[in-house]
Amino acid sequence: MTKRTKIIAIANQKGGVGKTTTVVNLAAALARRSRTVLVVDLDPQANATGGLGLEKEEGVSIYPVLLGNAEIADVIQPTAYDNLNIIPSEVDLAGAEIEIARREDHLSVIRDALAPVRDSGVFDYILLDCPPSLGIVMTSSLAAADGVLVPMQAEFLAMEGLGLITNLLEQLRAGANPDLELNGILLTMVNMVATQTKEVISMVKEKFGDRVYETTIPRNVRTSEAPSYGQPVIHYDPTCKGAVAYRAFAKEFIARTPTRFN
Ligand code: ADP
Ligand code: MG
Repeated sequence: MTKRTKIIAIANQKGGVGKTTTVVNLAAALARRSRTVLVVDLDPQANATGGLGLEKEEGVSIYPVLLGNAEIADVIQPTAYDNLNIIPSEVDLAGAEIEIARREDHLSVIRDALAPVRDSGVFDYILLDCPPSLGIVMTSSLAAADGVLVPMQAEFLAMEGLGLITNLLEQLRAGANPDLELNGILLTMVNMVATQTKEVISMVKEKFGDRVYETTIPRNVRTSEAPSYGQPVIHYDPTCKGAVAYRAFAKEFIARTPTRFN
């Protein structure tokens, strides 16, 4: 059987743009469509961990695996949802970053850590929730990924940030990860009433063409409430606008990101 696990890094060096919300809800919507999903929470803030209803637990994260002190199979946790598993985060990332940075193989640590899981073919998708900085964790996530998905807010200022991450993508293509694709750009927290919104969307589309997802995620209160209940919004309030948008996005994502199903 061909193993076609797709590893997608959800990245943007800016915080608060909807990375974690996208990871949690994309993962939940894919799982609902019978795709097997592993979320890897790489942000010490552990928002994806909490958003999927888990508590932080010392030693249960990717970090001991990166440092060679644990097996990856031992840190994969089930969630309350079928087909949806997670490697949670814990606070100790800063220390791990420094330790990893000293190593010669720092760009490949995440790729190497994920290799046994990828090779097992158990998961259709592995989604990497990156921390909001251009540090080692984000860079080595991109080095490990088949594609990078960039959530961004429809604001003029966000355009500059997009340049930083596409430069990083080019650097990786020129070196550690020649096959890395820009999976796409997802516009989040969209408020169509704001005057700059449509202008920014058309500027992004002009620059990135079909890499911009047709689906946009509206600003939606229920979507921001769901994490405090430890639930993806598609389960917390399946009919709200945020839930509808994330389900539509998952459908578009699957069409663009084929696995054994398509
Ligand atoms: P990041 O991971 O990029 O830092 P988050 O996904 O944590 O961003 O989102 C930042 C904040 O915005 C969170 O409080 C989250 O609940 C809220 N948020 C995210 N998406 C939406 C949305 N579509 N509508 C309203 N609030 C949102
Ligand atoms: Mg986050």
